[in-house]
Amino acid sequence: MNTSLLAPAALLELRRTLSGQLSTADQPVYEHLRKVWNAAVDVSPSLIVQADAAHAVRFARAQNLRLAVRSGCHRLWHRGRRVLVDLSKMKGVDLGPETHHVRLESGLTWGEVAALMHPNGLALTAGNVATVGVGGMTQGGGIGWMIRRHGLTIDRLKAVELITVGGQIVRASLSEHPELFWGVRSSGATFRILTALEFEAHEGGMVYGGLLAFDGPNPAGLLAEYTPLSLEAPEDLTTEAMLMLAPPMPFLPPRRWAVRCCWFWPVSAAPSGRAKLRSGHCAAWAPRWLT
Ligand SMILES: Cc1cc2nc3c(=O)[nH]c(=O)nc-3n(C[C@H](O)[C@H](O)[C@H](O)COP(=O)(O)OP(=O)(O)OC[C@H]3O[C@@H](n4cnc5c(N)ncnc54)[C@H](O)[C@@H]3O)c2cc1C
Repeated sequence: MNTSLLAPAALLELRRTLSGQLSTADQPVYEHLRKVWNAAVDVSPSLIVQADAAHAVRFARAQNLRLAVRSGCHRLWHRGRRVLVDLSKMKGVDLGPETHHVRLESGLTWGEVAALMHPNGLALTAGNVATVGVGGMTQGGGIGWMIRRHGLTIDRLKAVELITVGGQIVRASLSEHPELFWGVRSSGATFRILTALEFEAHEGGMVYGGLLAFDGPNPAGLLAEYTPLSLEAPEDLTTEAMLMLAPPMPFLPPRRWAVRCCWFWPVSAAPSGRAKLRSGHCAAWAPRWLT
């Protein structure tokens, strides 16, 4: 998509007034910027705006252009949007180790957040994959390794800073603009552009995690045993059964089925030997949750 359908004067004015970077298809950097983590997604917006998101919203509205937003750039899914607001450079953090209150800008990834929080003894229940972004994932709920003990990421959301359709920046929480806060928590990732999110963090700690790999012609037996076992597992333990082909790797049996595990322990509770994960090769579906 090119910029020829945009009013040239409007584009010039945007370039003059925008404090962040503005990229169009005629610039070499555009090709790099338009890409996202998921290589199957191929979208070409007319403009990519980095920072000054509120100004971009006002511009898009005045020009009647459809808007898309991205944060961690994992999987932008809106084709035909003309203005892309890219928040991936917004990575500010405020940590309150005493209060457990954290403010995260949308462009942070969950891996970056974990690395910042861990030295302060804090953690936040989030996704399984470190490269997923704060802005997008939270609005989908946020399912990860600490979900059984600490819930969804969105359960710990206390406030957001968002851009209204009129291009104003407001803070919404249970006490400020509660209807907007309700909308953010209930509508998925299509409601407003979130520039920062505030959470109540929980105690961080060590985790034991890993992959239990099994081989055999049929995973049905494994699943039949796994299901009741997963129901009786302690809440500190989150597991995920995966039936998928893996690339050939020396440590995996030829036909492999896997149960991925993460055992979350608070720092204060020293883990005993019982939490050690062992790899089994189906002959013995050994772990009765690793006792
Ligand atoms: C390999 C992989 C692993 C995943 N693992 C998990 C997982 O373990 N747990 C889990 O819960 N989810 C997981 N997901 C889903 C993931 O949470 C969503 O794809 C999420 O949208 C990614 O967040 P992002 O910030 O990277 O989004 P982006 O790719 O940047 O944007 C995706 C969409 O989110 C919306 N969005 C993004 N930022 C904002 C913002 N600031 N304000 C408003 N809307 C916004 C937009 O609609 C945008 O199109 C996974 C996805 C992939 C591809």
